[in-house]
Amino acid sequence: MKISFPHMGYSYIAFKWLVENMGHECIVPPEPSSRTLDLGVRYAPEFACIPFKILLGTYLEVVEMGAEVIISSGGMGPCRAGYYWVMHKYLLEEAGKDVKVVAFELPRSDIMDFWKKLRWLRKTGGISVKEFIRVFKTAWNKIMVIDDVEMRSHEIRPYEIHRGDTTRGLWTALDMIDKANTLQEIQEARVEGLRQLNQIEQDRSRKPLKIGIIGEIYVVLEPAANHYIQIMLGEMGVQTDRSIYLTSYARKNTIVNLEGDVFEVAKPYLNEAPIGGHGVNSIGETILYAKHGFDGVVQLAPFACIPEIVAKSIIPTVSKDYSIPVLTLFIDEQTGKAGVQTRLEAFVDLLESRREVRERHERLVI
Ligand code: SF4
Repeated sequence: MKISFPHMGYSYIAFKWLVENMGHECIVPPEPSSRTLDLGVRYAPEFACIPFKILLGTYLEVVEMGAEVIISSGGMGPCRAGYYWVMHKYLLEEAGKDVKVVAFELPRSDIMDFWKKLRWLRKTGGISVKEFIRVFKTAWNKIMVIDDVEMRSHEIRPYEIHRGDTTRGLWTALDMIDKANTLQEIQEARVEGLRQLNQIEQDRSRKPLKIGIIGEIYVVLEPAANHYIQIMLGEMGVQTDRSIYLTSYARKNTIVNLEGDVFEVAKPYLNEAPIGGHGVNSIGETILYAKHGFDGVVQLAPFACIPEIVAKSIIPTVSKDYSIPVLTLFIDEQTGKAGVQTRLEAFVDLLESRREVRERHERLVI
């Protein structure tokens, strides 16, 4: 079968490998572009959130490229994500596209359905259970290593002497991971990718500002949806830490380990029924970034995203209580790179002035 899936950051490298090694043909989703968004906007309801429109545009593109099956995810809770795949399926049918949409719900919500779909994929690909376990483990390792090199690139970029070196180093590392086929090759690609990133010429005397990136999962994870905000900030000399990585719940080696406490620390500010998406996380993560000495936080919120709107209404109180500035960027189809850049530059200027005032004050006290 010709299978495709949503484009989310660099994870397509691992998912492509998974699909191909399960015995299927992979239609690799293209990076979301203005055409992707145009297509999504044309077929989606006007007030659908931007991840919905980008995904719909991606699905229309992969159908053009020959995809017969689209693998997607379901969702639980009050946000619209749980209905995405149903709506996408309906809109694709309405547009006359002959494609099957298969959505994986969280195993804890319907374990039987999850296994049934997995078995169907395995059987139609013609691989044994043993082989499937091997393939799945290898693909998971790819995702972990992709996250490793990406995290490292965000640590190094603010120190790079020649602009763009780190991003080029990241592409090289991702290319090596893409070509790796065994657990050993993946580890070798990781070691070599990190070595090349570490060798980039750097000015370690710089003292970069530190900004945490929070918000809705899709716009946080897909650089094309957030106008490459982490690369943009890194090239402005800012160190960024992203609150979400695909593998983050299974690991402890991000710049800041935000796992565990997020819901607990958010409780004094939001202790009601679940609001869906990453709304509560955004509140808790702002607090944790403040506690970890970050200079500021950028919240990425799709326009009309209820969980992030709820979080945004609470964040000013959190920002005041913890003395941490927060910039909220609402993202929709009208958002342009230049506008994002201007707002980020102004925010970085503000953070620099605050740091100068704080340091002057500290010197006077000493
Ligand atoms: S979290 Fe927000 S953007 Fe994401 S699906 Fe829910 S409402 Fe839409």
